[in-house]
Amino acid sequence: MAKYIFVTGGVTSSLGKGIFAASLAKLLQARGYRVAIQKFDPYINVDPGTLNPYEHGECYVTEDGAETDLDLGHYERFLNVPTSQANNVTTGRIYLSVITKERKGAFLGKTVQVIPHITDEIKRCMLLLGQSGDYDIVLTEIGGTVGDIEAQPYIESVRQLKWELPAEDTLICHLTLLPYLKSAKELKTKPTQHSVKELQALGLQPDILVCRTEMEMNSDLKKKLALFCNVSRDAVIQALDVDSIYEVPLEFQKENLDTIVLNKLRLQNGEQCNLDKWKDFLYKQKHPKHEVKIGLVGKYIELQDAYKSIHEAFVHAGVANECSVLVEPIHSEDIDEKNVKSLLGHLDGVLVAPGFGTRGIEGKIETIKYVRENNIPFFGICLGMQCAVIEFARNVLGHTDAHSTEMNRQTKYPVISLMEEQKNVEDKGGTMRLGAYKCVLEKGSQAYECYGTENISERHRHRYEFNNEYLTAIENAGMKASGKNPESGLVEIVEIPSHPFFIGVQFHPELKSTVENPHPVFKGLIKAAIQYKHLKAKSRELSFHESGE
Ligand code: GLN
Repeated sequence: MAKYIFVTGGVTSSLGKGIFAASLAKLLQARGYRVAIQKFDPYINVDPGTLNPYEHGECYVTEDGAETDLDLGHYERFLNVPTSQANNVTTGRIYLSVITKERKGAFLGKTVQVIPHITDEIKRCMLLLGQSGDYDIVLTEIGGTVGDIEAQPYIESVRQLKWELPAEDTLICHLTLLPYLKSAKELKTKPTQHSVKELQALGLQPDILVCRTEMEMNSDLKKKLALFCNVSRDAVIQALDVDSIYEVPLEFQKENLDTIVLNKLRLQNGEQCNLDKWKDFLYKQKHPKHEVKIGLVGKYIELQDAYKSIHEAFVHAGVANECSVLVEPIHSEDIDEKNVKSLLGHLDGVLVAPGFGTRGIEGKIETIKYVRENNIPFFGICLGMQCAVIEFARNVLGHTDAHSTEMNRQTKYPVISLMEEQKNVEDKGGTMRLGAYKCVLEKGSQAYECYGTENISERHRHRYEFNNEYLTAIENAGMKASGKNPESGLVEIVEIPSHPFFIGVQFHPELKSTVENPHPVFKGLIKAAIQYKHLKAKSRELSFHESGE
């Protein structure tokens, strides 16, 4: 029988419930427990796959091909355990399932209502992972903020579960904000008190109060909050702002969060918390020996969350190379033939981001031409790989009209075209080529050098593909298909062997990078960038001497 921890939020959104849940789970995992995290989102989209990244940040794809919330990325990066469709449920998915049952007559003539039908379905999903027998503890993050109309069925479901399950099997952690008023030089507790009242009005009493704050909380403040929010004194936990999200588990450990949780759940408290590897990672993150500047060329760069997993993969790969990676976001719409050198000339490596649609596409292609011709380390992901093929066809093969049929259906040279199985697809949600597919690497290739193995599996999210009709011509001109799907022959990786580091991948490697397992191609890019930077410095030195200065 698994134990259930529910995480709610109050006062404002964006408090970092996902990071809190991942950090608590990390501590419990380090205590020897098998932990899962799931997220329940109160919006009506069936999944975030149809949401614009500006709306909801990146769409995170799991092994089984579910398009999910970006918090699942944090769960995987912290725990190093893959998630699946079961780890992310939305209101849309709940209603879809209830309405589908209703159409089949499953409710035997009853009026179908929020309570009990919707709440029953929510509770069924909440218990699913815990009933699998694979986990000792399941953490459930409830999206949104307490008081939101749309979150009410979730809060009510938690209330019912708390009533139905043995008292020591459930726990509620409520995350809030303590605003600091400069003029009063004080942290204010009233918004937290109000948000706890709101929760209590819905029948829920938090067991643990986690307070986001920019200033240290003193014991009087903790005592006051404990008294007015009806929680035990040791259960008021401060969540101080820190530089790196990976420091958060250690901050909570200082507050004894893991011990408090285990005691409240009546779980064995003996096993020591083993976070040695984690601490080693943090030490290296704080003491880098190198520094490189990597350009991230994309069209959603105004919003950090749109490329969340890419940013984190850079952190992991940087630590693996003992290198601080400064990521410089560059808007692909701003890049053209005239300014490309001034925008990219100072960089040690460039990543061209995934994406959909025409906006910013020519800037991506211009970027790739520049890095290809100037031997700057390059990594293209999904649309970034497709742009590398288009650029090569245009500027090396001389097919100036070459394009992807996504952007130009009439192109004379459709080097990227719609996959066969996509041709009759009309629905948008959940219909791309999604999830994990195998790929076999060409021995001796740059990709093989990175992975150190021939057989890999990576996650996908795309509709268009490398058009194999052009494979021979492209390969003859110097760009190789170094990774292919063994069943379909789809090209998964392209590279240019004559270039120091030029790799484009059709899949999303950023989704599999974790603290414990930094992604091999990201690691390879950073390594290549360090070498490129040294080389640049040397040749500068040389020309300095030669000029007699
Ligand atoms: N738009 C491209 C496709 O659908 C690339 C998708 C992506 O970058 N995720 O194939």
